[in-house]
Parts: sequence; structure tokens; C-alpha cells
Amino acid sequence: MQLPGEIERAFESGATVLTANVRAARWLKREYALLQRAAGRRAWATPPIEDWESRLLRLWQAHSIADPDEPLLLTSLQERSVWTRMQRDDAALLVSPARMAALAEEAYALLCAYEAHAERNRPWGQTDAESFRLWADLFDRECAQQRWMSRARLESHIREVIGKGGLPLPAEILLLGFDRITPARKRLIAAMEARGTEVRFATLDAPHQPRRLVSATDRRDEITTCAHWVRSLLEENPLFENAPRRVGVLAPDVRTVRSDVERIFRRVLMPETDDISTPTTRMPFEFSLGKPLDSVPVIRAAMLLLRWIANPLSEEEVSWFLLSGFFSADASDYLVLASFDASLRNSGSLSLEISLRNTVRKMRSDRFPSLEDLRTRLEGILKIAAVNHVAEEARVPGRWIDLAQLLLQQSGWSSSQRRDEIDFQARVRWERMLDEIALLDFDGRRMQYHEFLDVLETLAHETIFAPESHGASVQIMGALEASGHQFDAVWFLGADDQNWPMRGRLHPLLPKDLQRRAAMPHATAEDDWEVAKAVTERVTASAPMVIFSHAERDKDGELRPSALLAHIAPGARWEASAKLLSELDVWTSAHAASRLEEITDASGKIAWPREQCAGGASVLKDQAACPFRAFAAKRLYAEELNRSDWGLSAAERGLLLHKVMERLWSPENGRLHTLADLQVAIAEGPLQAVIEGAIGDVFEKLVAEQRGDRWMEAYLASEQRRLLTRLDEWLRKHEAERLPFTVEATERVLDDVSVGGLKLRLRADRIDQVADVQQLLVDYKSGKVSTNDWDGMRPKEPQLPLYATFGNVENVCGVVFARINVEKTGLEGCLSDVRAQLFADKSTSSKLMKNPYDDATRDEWRAALLNLAEDFLSGHAQVDPRDGMKTCKFCALPGLCRVAELREASTQDETEPGEGDE
Ligand code: SF4
Repeated sequence: MQLPGEIERAFESGATVLTANVRAARWLKREYALLQRAAGRRAWATPPIEDWESRLLRLWQAHSIADPDEPLLLTSLQERSVWTRMQRDDAALLVSPARMAALAEEAYALLCAYEAHAERNRPWGQTDAESFRLWADLFDRECAQQRWMSRARLESHIREVIGKGGLPLPAEILLLGFDRITPARKRLIAAMEARGTEVRFATLDAPHQPRRLVSATDRRDEITTCAHWVRSLLEENPLFENAPRRVGVLAPDVRTVRSDVERIFRRVLMPETDDISTPTTRMPFEFSLGKPLDSVPVIRAAMLLLRWIANPLSEEEVSWFLLSGFFSADASDYLVLASFDASLRNSGSLSLEISLRNTVRKMRSDRFPSLEDLRTRLEGILKIAAVNHVAEEARVPGRWIDLAQLLLQQSGWSSSQRRDEIDFQARVRWERMLDEIALLDFDGRRMQYHEFLDVLETLAHETIFAPESHGASVQIMGALEASGHQFDAVWFLGADDQNWPMRGRLHPLLPKDLQRRAAMPHATAEDDWEVAKAVTERVTASAPMVIFSHAERDKDGELRPSALLAHIAPGARWEASAKLLSELDVWTSAHAASRLEEITDASGKIAWPREQCAGGASVLKDQAACPFRAFAAKRLYAEELNRSDWGLSAAERGLLLHKVMERLWSPENGRLHTLADLQVAIAEGPLQAVIEGAIGDVFEKLVAEQRGDRWMEAYLASEQRRLLTRLDEWLRKHEAERLPFTVEATERVLDDVSVGGLKLRLRADRIDQVADVQQLLVDYKSGKVSTNDWDGMRPKEPQLPLYATFGNVENVCGVVFARINVEKTGLEGCLSDVRAQLFADKSTSSKLMKNPYDDATRDEWRAALLNLAEDFLSGHAQVDPRDGMKTCKFCALPGLCRVAELREASTQDETEPGEGDE
């Protein structure tokens, strides 16, 4: 790529090039090095290229070393600490004094940059602004007293030093990529010029083709079209002369489109990476916008550990921590750690949080001998934390940093294998961040461990970590960040009337009229317009080939092209994205070196071994819901990790209900056996005590486990009361109204069940003997159910039809759901004939008789069940949820079956560009 002539000339003349941001400086250095290498040079002197902020800091360091009387330049963290103290009594009224300190720091920086401190001499009226004005006075006084200086005053301070003849300056400075020059900066530049330095602003001068304007149906169509265009460029599409080496994809605010761009670009530019077995590869694109440091895995792992020492972590956090790989010696530990994690989840804990101490205790189990090393390290951490009185002591931040480093070393995090260069760079940034926190010792203030953690977590979240560029061909950036960059081709996304010019907000701590008078950012719509116009012109001049695009609608309604583009490309017409795509398509089909090849998977289905029992009724329930779900559960042993909420889950409540009912009605050791027993219990009064006894037996272990935790004790007591109320209602209102019955069996295992050759082991909740020799199958349900769930070839609840038709139970006269849940209690099902009347009240029985239990019903059930069994046996494992999203909503396997991707692909097919047009 050819550098702009003005910059090349600056390099030749030895001028200093100052860029508006670090990224532009890095890019320029890299380009320079590539040009030197291309010219056959093996060594060369790096020209003076630097970003403005770094230059200022270097000037300051040089000056302050020479003059030890200069004040201490505060870091941003130190400054916020001072702002927090300046809030004094106001802090008690604020939701977040730390957040307010950050806003105060920003407002103060604006006053400095726009030279508006004189405005502070009179009251500001508005409450928040007035509070800030008073804090600012205190801040200035404190800084003067302590000999501190805010970073925001650096430009004006250096200007004064330069004005007095201090600091050596270069003969010539070229400024690159400055969209806006603040008054303070303008005066500093003027001071440099007064000292004889020639300061010039570089202009980009790419020779350009006519600008192209593309309109897309929606944002996804816009990004997809852009991705295909980029791909054609990277494949050296001869539609474009001189295949580009550096492509810029710009957007007004990259954060809002980042995830869509990442997903679509990955699919279009590197479809092979969709295969999870593909080794990690560098993408041909990269984002200039970094991510919060705390979202980088290696840093997240460190922060979780430091928090875990003082507070319990949530189950998700513990799972993530254990499987993060930063605390295990090698990959073979993962399986053991995963199984330990599953055991934590299945331990029946009613809390979603777990402390480090409890985790370590559970690691002592004989089941996990290979975790001994990790356990020893974590025990060491607990000892260090105890010796250092982490819970009580107050220390200066630097000493907490020392302790944090010691803890991380003891945990194995510090010495864990670096996964890649991003991991390495993130650790370097982490160390720098710790150094920044250690500098908070400057005022001798002590803090508790939890306050130290707050500072650490806030700073890690605010620190934007942008890995060093690996020189990807496609750079994805914000329009403002792209200042100073030159490309071979640029696509500007989101050039619509809602997004461009961007609308910013006025600062909440400064009066509006002050901001307007000082011409601060976003003070007026005209200001936003002028800045966006300058940026658009700069983008237009930054590459020979530039495309602007916009979506015609978003979720809020219609969008139109940004009015700014009329200035840039007067008279140009917007063309549909489909036109550009079809141009690219023509080229692709004519020139693509390789084509997609369709390969038939001839490996066939893998049949289930018929001699093997497939478990309970759930296999056919899963097969009916989605064949892949049954396959994953039975063949891959995929199961959901337990727990997703505080307290008992729905499944746990159902299990407890079953156990209590068994305690009540079991023929072997239950408290009741027949209708007569129940009626006596009601008539003579001990029914409540009978139910309470059964509930007490079942809850005994749970209550013992939670003893001492008052919240949990109260919660379990309320669960028991709730169950007592439901069961009392159920027994009095429904069971006691029945005609005579005897409970024949509870939780009976139905052996030797075979459904068309599929071996199953079933368990019936309860079998009642009614009308002498008839048997009624009863299934307890604590959730919502309906007899409609038995219908069709893919029944939702196949258990009862299965017990009735293949369960080898003699003389079945009907099947019923016993519904006992919070909303209501009741019986629902179907009965064979009048002999099986259940209730003395005929109307209740006839409701049940609406669904006859006859040969036709049984034949229908049998056919559906045989069909499902045959599908499962033959290995039919299609991703085919019965009710689409409704079925998937309650399934734990979307990550395994990747149904979302299938669905996305099919929706994409349905809405190929152009199809959605009116
Ligand atoms: S998420 Fe949906 S498609 Fe995937 S296995 Fe579950 S039910 Fe089937």
C-alpha cells in the first residue's frame, strides 16, 4: 500500500509524525517497516512516529525529572480517588460515589480541554452541576495543597513550560487524523509554533474511483453483502484492479454491530472454522475496538479466584473457574474436573452459591484422588487468606496487590501455560493494571479487602484491552477511531439517518448553556453535523475505493440514507445490495478456483444394540420430542447439569411429591392402604398428622443438611406447609370421594418390557385395585399435563400409554393423571367402561369417560409407541424438534445439536437479499 505522499515526505525530512491515537501510530510504524523490507533493506532507523498522548507524557517525564519541584501528575485512578473524597457528605446521597467520581473526572477534563474554568466563578444553578462545581473547588484546593496535578491540565502546563523556553522541540511536526482540535490543544500548538516548530496537519489524498452507495433490506443483509464484497476482494477479484491488501470496514459505533459482524464475517470469510474440531486459526479480520479486560478468560479466572477467597461464587462461576484450564496441570485433568463440577451440581444443595472452603472440602472425596494437587493449592490459599486476616484487616492498596499476587502464585494461575499471545498480552496488561492500583498508596489511605476487590473489578471492567494488531487484511473500526488510517478499500456500514451523524449526550455535570458557549462535543446538532462531515470526508479520502451502505429498516421502523452523503457524492444513486451481490456472484462462479462439492454421507445410521435395555419411558418421550435429544441422552450420555435456580427445582419438587405419596400409600410400609383407611383418618382427625409424618420423613435429610442456615430452614418449612395443604386437599377432595379401592402397588418396577424389540425398564407410580379385579394406573404429576399429551404419533407424555399397552399389567381398566400442583388438584384420564366408575358422583366419572380407554385408543397408542421405538432402534437421530422453538425452549442441548445455526441458515435462505422487497 502506498503511504500518503505528505507522510512519506515527512519521513524523508525527519519530521515528527504525531497521530490522534495509538492504533494509527502503530499502523504507520508497521507500514513503514513493510515498505523498508519491500525495498530490500534489512535494517533501518524507525522514524519519529508517536501518538499525541504518549508524546505529551514523554515531554512531561523529561521535564519533571529535570525539575523536581514540579507537582505529582495523578493517574486516572488516583484522580478518581481524590474526586471520591471531595464528594464528602454528598457521597451518602449517591447510588455510586465511584461512578460519580468518574463523571466528575470527565467533566473536569472537558473544562480543561475547552478552557472553561473561568465559568466556575459563578453559581451554576442546576443541582448536580452545582455540586460538581463545589467539588471542583475542593479538588483544586487539595491538589494545590498536596502538590498534585490532574492529567487534564497537562496540555496547558506543558504549554507554559514551552512558553518559558523549556523542553526541546522538533523542527517540524506533522499531525495525522485529528478530527477535532480543542482550544487547549490549539494553544499548545501555537506555543510550539512560537518556538519555531513548523506544525502541519496531514491530509489523506487517495486517488479515488466514484463512490458507491448500497442500500440493504436490513442490518443483516447489509453486513452480509459487505462480507461477500470483502471476500471477493481477498480472493483478488479482477472486478477490482490492484487487489487490495488493507481493507477497512467502518461503522459509526462498532460496539453496536460487533457481534453480528463477527458472526457473519466468520461464516462468509472462514466457513471452515464452524467445525469445532478445526484448530484455532487467525481470522483475516480484526476489530480495533478492544474488550473490557475482565472479559478476557485469563483475567476473569484471576478475578474469580480473588473474589472466591472472600465470597461464595455462583454455580456458573464455579463451573467456569474449574474448567477454565488456568488452574489444572494438563488437559487430562479436565474430565476429572468436569465430573467433580457435575458432582457439585448434583449434590442436592439448595443454594446456587458455593464457598471456596466447601468446594475444597468436597474435593477431599475418594472419588477425586487426581484433584489432590489442586486441592492442596486451594487449601494453601485459604491458609494464606486466614493468616493475612483478609476478612478484617485494612491495608494500603499496594499491600493488597502483594497479597493478590501471592494468592495467584499459590493457585497455579501465575505459572499456568500461556495459551496464546492474547493470553500473554492480557497478563502484561493485568500487571500494569495492578501497578496502577498500587499507586493508590499515594495518599496513604487504607482499605478493606472487599474495597480493594471493588477497585480491582471496576478498573478491570473499565480497562479496554485491545490485543496488538496481527496485521489482518480487514480492519474493522469505528469511524472516529479510523482517523489517520489509510486503506486500499473501505466499506462504511450504517450510513443511515439514525446513526450518522451520531447523536451524543451533553455531560450531566456541566450546565447546558456552558457546554454550548464553550462548543463542547454534542452541545449542538450543528456541532455533531460538522464533526461527522469532517469524518465522512476523511473516510472518503482514506481509500481509492469506498462504499457507503445503509439498511432500509430496523426494529424501530424505516431508515433513510444519511443526509451527509449528499455532500460527499452529490447525485449518486443508491443501488440495492442484491445488485452488488449478483455482480460478485457472477465473478465467483466464473473464477472461483474451487467449488462447493456435495458429499453424501454414506455412513448410515447406527442401530441401538437390541440386547441392551434403553432405560425408562424417557427414551420414547425424548424420541417423540426430538430424535436427536433421545440420541444425545442415550448414545452420548449428554445430560443437563443440575440446578438453575435458588431452592428446589420443579423436578426436585416432583420427586419429593412421589416420595411422600409412597410413604402414604405403600402397601409394604405406608400409612394408608385403602379408601376405608383414608375415611377413618379423616373422620377421626389424624389425617393432618398422617400427612405431616410422611412429609417429615421425606424432608428429614434435606432439613438436616440445611440446619443453621436460617433462610433455608424457613424456605424448607414453607415448602413442607405448601405440600401439606396440597395433599390434604387432594386426599379429602378427590381420593376420599372415590368408590372403594385398595392400593395394590406403589413405585412398581415393570420388568421385561419390550416395545417392538426395544427393552425398557418402567416404573409405575401407583396401581389401584378397583371394582374387584380391575387395575387402575395412576401417575402423579406436579406440573401442567393434559390427556391431549397422549395423542398423535409423537405424544408428549407417553408414560401412561406405555404402561397400559406394554407394561404387562393385567386387567387395566384405565389410566389417570393425579395432578397435584400449586394451581389445582384433580384427576384426569380415561376409563374403560361403566364397571370402572371411580366416583360415587357420576358426573366426575363421566368427565373421565369422555376419553374412553378402549381397543381403538390402545391401538393408536401402540402404533405410535412402536413407531418411536423402531426409530430409536434404527438410530434415527434427526434434529427435528416436535414443536420447533417451543420444544427447544425446555431442552438443555441446543449447544450440542446447534439447532440455532440450522434455523439461522434456513431463515437466511428464506430471506435471500431482494426477496424481502415489497
Ligand atoms: S434443542 Fe431442540 S433441536 Fe436440539 S436436541 Fe433439544 S429439542 Fe432437539
